[in-house]
Amino acid sequence: MGDLESSKIDHENHLLLDQPLISLPIELLRKNLRSARFEVEKDGSYVKETLKRTATESVSGRISPPDVIKTLDSMIARMRGVKRKLTAFSDEEKRLHQHEEARVKHLAELYDMYSIDDVKYEGWSRTRLDRLLTDYMLRQGYIDSARALAERRQMELLVDVDTFEQMNRIRQCILNGSVQEALTWCTAGDTKKELRKMDSNLEFMLRYQQYIEIVRNRSRINPGEALAHARKHLYPYISTYNKEVMHACGLLAMLPEHADRVEAYRELYSPARWQKLADLFTETHNSLLSLPSIPLLHIALSSGLSALKTPACHSIHPNSAAAPSHHTSLSLAASVCPICSTELNELARNVPHALHSKSHVEPELRLLPNGRVYGLARLEEYAKKAGLSEDKIKDLRTGEVYGADELKKVFIS
Ligand SMILES: [Zn+2]
Repeated sequence: MGDLESSKIDHENHLLLDQPLISLPIELLRKNLRSARFEVEKDGSYVKETLKRTATESVSGRISPPDVIKTLDSMIARMRGVKRKLTAFSDEEKRLHQHEEARVKHLAELYDMYSIDDVKYEGWSRTRLDRLLTDYMLRQGYIDSARALAERRQMELLVDVDTFEQMNRIRQCILNGSVQEALTWCTAGDTKKELRKMDSNLEFMLRYQQYIEIVRNRSRINPGEALAHARKHLYPYISTYNKEVMHACGLLAMLPEHADRVEAYRELYSPARWQKLADLFTETHNSLLSLPSIPLLHIALSSGLSALKTPACHSIHPNSAAAPSHHTSLSLAASVCPICSTELNELARNVPHALHSKSHVEPELRLLPNGRVYGLARLEEYAKKAGLSEDKIKDLRTGEVYGADELKKVFIS
């Protein structure tokens, strides 16, 4: 009965980690729709205004008929452009719907299984592991490997290669000392509005870095440029970023070669800022799309390690006689402890133990003279199989034979 209980699939808990799988395409669909609406509104208001103006001018005779036709042609061209853009948005929507459909189907497959002993379960959980590995590689920037794995396992619709590829490309640009690509991302469509809602400081920090670079290279750049940049992109935000703006002003008087003496300015000229900026971008990108900030593989691995870890796994004298390694004293089925394996032992060192609220003990325990404990029923069954007489029993593990009168009852208190 106990085994049946532990192999039962608790679907809701099983899918706890899979929320982003379903939510990302929905977030992207929303983003896509918002961007499409942005384009329609932008060009729509242009056409409406031009139409109104041309009509008024035409009625009052301030514009000649050929010029009216020219303006109308330009409006038609503009609308064709909108149609082209909308076609691209529509294709993207179709692609995202395909992703969502495949993901729902994949998760629904689990609901057809009730036990982890189901033959289909192994394949399903293998796909899940591959998904986690792909997610991990995408986040670490191993895009080609992630794509190859997704193709090999035919699970392209279950992973988000395109999203992370774009993210990595922009991140790499920042690390190479360019903020332009990230600024374009910040201001494309209505992302700017969304970032403002999140109180994001990404755009400001990118502009700030741009300013630092202008000041750093002041000998080669028109000196007025730094002031113009500060007036346009930094000064309007002085109430929110007071310290940064003040430092920006001071930076003008501090050449890079002299900045070493003052910590605040040394920090501003430091190349380490690019790494921080890249991390800020990744963080902003992920929270805009409601993606977890750490790879799902890390979450799955740490909860798995925690569930399997026992206090004995990191005991100081694992092999001494006084504290025998715990996996030799447990039941036969658990003869190998994954946490004690060389691969996982070090990884598990800092994770907490799980709180096991249930434990299973065989009924009617008997203590053998060699210190081992087994359930009476199992001892009797094993003795019978071994062909021993009724007053003898045999240790299931060591094979030692004892008289039945040498057994002692065990009480757990
Ligand atoms: Zn162990």
